[in-house]
Amino acid sequence: MTMMCRAVLIALALNLYVLAQNKDVGPQLKNYTVIRAGSLIDGKSDSPRRDQVIIIRGNRIDSVSDAASAKFPSDAKVIDLSKATVLPGLIDSHTHIFLQGEDPAEGGYDVNILKYPASFRAARATVSARRALEQGFTTLRDVETEGAGYGDIGIKQAIEGGFIPGPRLFVSTRAISTTGGYPLEGYAPELTMPKGAQLIDGPIEARKAAREQLDNGADWIKVYMTHRSWVGKNGELVSQPTLTLDELKAVVDEAHGWGKKVACHAYSGIGLQRALDGGCDSIEHGLVISDAQIAQMLKQGTWYCPTIAVYYTDWAPADTPAGQRDRLRASVHEESFKKAMKAGVKIVFGTDIGGIPWSQSIAQEFPRMVDLGMSPMEAIRSATSRAAEMLDDIGQIGVLAPGAFADVIAVPGDPLKDIKELGNVQFVMKDGKVFKDEIHPK
Ligand SMILES: [Zn+2]
Repeated sequence: MTMMCRAVLIALALNLYVLAQNKDVGPQLKNYTVIRAGSLIDGKSDSPRRDQVIIIRGNRIDSVSDAASAKFPSDAKVIDLSKATVLPGLIDSHTHIFLQGEDPAEGGYDVNILKYPASFRAARATVSARRALEQGFTTLRDVETEGAGYGDIGIKQAIEGGFIPGPRLFVSTRAISTTGGYPLEGYAPELTMPKGAQLIDGPIEARKAAREQLDNGADWIKVYMTHRSWVGKNGELVSQPTLTLDELKAVVDEAHGWGKKVACHAYSGIGLQRALDGGCDSIEHGLVISDAQIAQMLKQGTWYCPTIAVYYTDWAPADTPAGQRDRLRASVHEESFKKAMKAGVKIVFGTDIGGIPWSQSIAQEFPRMVDLGMSPMEAIRSATSRAAEMLDDIGQIGVLAPGAFADVIAVPGDPLKDIKELGNVQFVMKDGKVFKDEIHPK
């Protein structure tokens, strides 16, 4: 390095130091937005606070304080939500932006993979992402592209680059199951059909699949530990196990080595037990969870993402085997949810939307949780600070507090009195930018 070079570097460093000391320097630092909140639910606390002021600088929350004592620059832009309830942007921890709630009458799941170009599916995924944001969901954990490969990585890049609107995405790319453990199924055995997930057999292939997905940018690994379900001889819900314990352990070991977590789709029985024994970080759906399994979840700190509402949609007729299974799934799931909640298992809000059409309300999961005994505040936390904890993003998302991203939503009424109010999000700010404002129509 020449002397000249060094002198320039030192001068530059000094300049930066001066800038850092003098917080009011520079036009970008004066970029304040102020939100007046009539009622504020911060995503963490037990009770709401009245008449609060949130000061936002750039894309972060600078402070949250009582309106009476709040001080902010006179030239700050003020957004008046003093007649509304203000909350952190919501988090759905189980979505599929590449699924569209496919109607069996129109070819169901299979046509996605067999007939649609990847660009068509990506175009629809951008609509799914926008739909989530419109409803106040500023973060999604999207758990598998269903045959669309690494498409979620591209959607995430397009959102982060500001090319399309959408939530913050935690993506899991292709997902992992075994031979005989995922569609497309039921075609002539002579045909080699494409599959909706990456299929592995043996711990070596399992580890390799995890490495490939992580190498390509997966934030989470999604594993199918059970496949299908039906009513057993004794009236119990049965599901087919997929990965062996050794296969799952290879995936979990690899993911944890990268500092990433593993979400396991697991309905019941052997597959669910292997998911827990193999060290899964979150159980998805968990329709039948025994008392011993709940104890194991508590001991291991396993998360539970129940996705209740989806099991009430599209029931087959009651007098058919599929119809009996559909009804059994909903009833055993309710019991598992209640037991897990009572025992103190860590529960996050998830919908499986995509499994149901994106035209439906994501917030429909909230009243399901509350009807089964969860308090409205705890239901809100499951979609804010609890989810942030699972996503290793405590203090960044799911909370209205200094230092957090300015992801802020508002509803006109009080969701603690009527949880359905969360289906009526009228104001959405993500990353400090207003995306939707129906409270102040232009
Ligand atoms: Zn799912």
